[in-house]
Amino acid sequence: MQGNGSRTAPMAELWVNPDLRPAADTLTRTDIRLADVEDAEARLARFAPLLVRLFPELRAADGIIESALLPVAQADADKLLGLSSAQDAWGRLLIKADHDLPVAGSIKARGGIYEVLAHTEALALQHGLLTPDDDYAVLAEATARRVFEQHTVSVGSTGNLGMSIGIMAAALGYRATVHMSAEAKQWKKDKLRGHGVQVIEHAGDYAAAVHTGREDAATDPRAHFVDDERSLTLFLGYSVAALRLRDQLRALGITVDARHPLFVYLPCGVGGAPAGIAFGLKQVFGDAVHCWFLEPTAAACFLTRMRHPDRPGISVYDAGMDNVTEADGLAVPVASELAYAQMRHLIAGVATTADATLFADLAALHDTLGLQVEPSAASALSGPRMLLSDPAGAAYLRTHAPDDYLARSTHIVWSTGGRFVPAQEFEGFLARGRAEDRARA
Ligand SMILES: *Cc1c(COP(=O)(O)O)cnc(C)c1O
Repeated sequence: MQGNGSRTAPMAELWVNPDLRPAADTLTRTDIRLADVEDAEARLARFAPLLVRLFPELRAADGIIESALLPVAQADADKLLGLSSAQDAWGRLLIKADHDLPVAGSIKARGGIYEVLAHTEALALQHGLLTPDDDYAVLAEATARRVFEQHTVSVGSTGNLGMSIGIMAAALGYRATVHMSAEAKQWKKDKLRGHGVQVIEHAGDYAAAVHTGREDAATDPRAHFVDDERSLTLFLGYSVAALRLRDQLRALGITVDARHPLFVYLPCGVGGAPAGIAFGLKQVFGDAVHCWFLEPTAAACFLTRMRHPDRPGISVYDAGMDNVTEADGLAVPVASELAYAQMRHLIAGVATTADATLFADLAALHDTLGLQVEPSAASALSGPRMLLSDPAGAAYLRTHAPDDYLARSTHIVWSTGGRFVPAQEFEGFLARGRAEDRARA
């Protein structure tokens, strides 16, 4: 399955989606509704008391796992994007700090934890552990744990999904199994094992790890496999971020409408997390929000799928890429068909980033703003930089942000992971990023 490493990655590029359509048309044609997103949000609220019980660090947030929306000073933003202050006003930059999400340390906290909870609710109702009016904190009691101990939750992962599913499932008492692909970092495996999770290492890539996990679980009626390529539950868990972001923007007094466009830059692996969030954002803001996905140049599976609408299952190897990138969370060879089908007419486009750039950005985010993000997350910064400086971006903006709309626009870089990166590992990232930055200057 693994590609041949001698192939060189293509150049970084900004690809504009020729099939973007008005949000209202697209959203009436799909069977996922805003009500489904709201239903997921309500489920997370029901589980909040249980989460406080299991993870005391969530007490201050009343059991809601959410990240801050951080405004970036204009001078810092110009510097991070490599724009001169003489450039025409392009709006403001904010960072959605999922790199600091508690419990799982990445954007996977949203979808992964949600799916374990949705499964748990169904199981608990079925076993009479719960009536819908109960305080869900009862699910931390021994009676419930004895039931969960009879069940397995499993998943295939490049690392972060395994962390969110493994940590949540183990905390509830499930047997948890994580199938890790070749990219997965040793410290992620160690951390999971420390939580009592069974980690199975695979020599193959992400698609292979998912495949094995799916097959294994299929033969066991007491196993629930979280299917990153197909799960609507996971997708809906991610989508809740849109409702939370709407409230955070409102609290900051930031308007989003046709004349005040919102640009959101989302790192993309299989596509589930960015698609879930983009779907929610389109439901909330319609055509006023422009969603861009970011991928490594060597693992641009979503871009590959978007470019080949008639080839479901097309891989990055088919497109001449080797899937070799330090952005481990994005090292995925084949896009999720669920994510692709939902995004086909909704995303503005896809930008790709070379590893050298994402390391330089990782260091810049640390040295300018004091943030600790992992390589996958740093890719997001290439989004606004390319949109604001690439000719394809300029053409998109002339159509979608005419007149002075750009000056009134808001740009959100979604920083998707980093909290649990060990200090020593992070020092290595920083050193590499600072060296890249010097080479670039
Ligand atoms: C998984 C992951 C993503 C992308 O999510 P997908 O659902 O795989 O597209 C982005 N950033 C980080 C840090 C991740 O772990």
